[in-house]
Amino acid sequence: DPDNIKPGMLNSLAERSMPLCMKQLHSALNREHKLKHWGRLQYGLFLKGAGLSVDDAMAFWQAMFTKIMGLDQFQKQYAYNVRHMYGKEGKRTNYTPYSCLKIIMGNPPAAGDHHGCPYRHYDEDHLSSLLSQVRIGATDKDAILRQVKSKNYQLACQRHFEATHKGYEASGVSTDGVGNHPNAWMHASMEFHK
Ligand code: SF4
Repeated sequence: DPDNIKPGMLNSLAERSMPLCMKQLHSALNREHKLKHWGRLQYGLFLKGAGLSVDDAMAFWQAMFTKIMGLDQFQKQYAYNVRHMYGKEGKRTNYTPYSCLKIIMGNPPAAGDHHGCPYRHYDEDHLSSLLSQVRIGATDKDAILRQVKSKNYQLACQRHFEATHKGYEASGVSTDGVGNHPNAWMHASMEFHK
């Protein structure tokens, strides 16, 4: 089931309920008011998967991008893109949000890109300081970094969920798919915080 999110919820969702990859894309978008092609796709399809409507998506991307460009430029260069993600243009393909495997195996981020999986694509120092930034304690951070060292990126992501949702076992929330799909991660977190 989609989570029917609205643009106004995204800052708090990014803070509380997004896996590391999507937190990174959200904060880069807030900071730079743009995302490159793969970042727009990874984050845009994730938001679509969480139930953001095409109209809300258009309003959201427009509000972000027009902080650094005119409405005209947004409409000419990016609006098509948003409609395309929702299958409203071109071949009307119904694009599905990317799974963790697709993101992990996908093309790695170059300089200035913010897509990808931080566990797979960041070096240890960068990942370690990012985990501190999102307030992961030393013990949990060690456990996460150990998984990364063994190339168990998806298990590292599960550890991040466990570290930030203490008591989730007792809450009865299903964590099916956490570590396999970014939308499952957010869905489980939203259920936990209900
Ligand atoms: Fe995102 Fe999946 Fe990587 Fe977690 S394992 S950060 S959800 S791509």
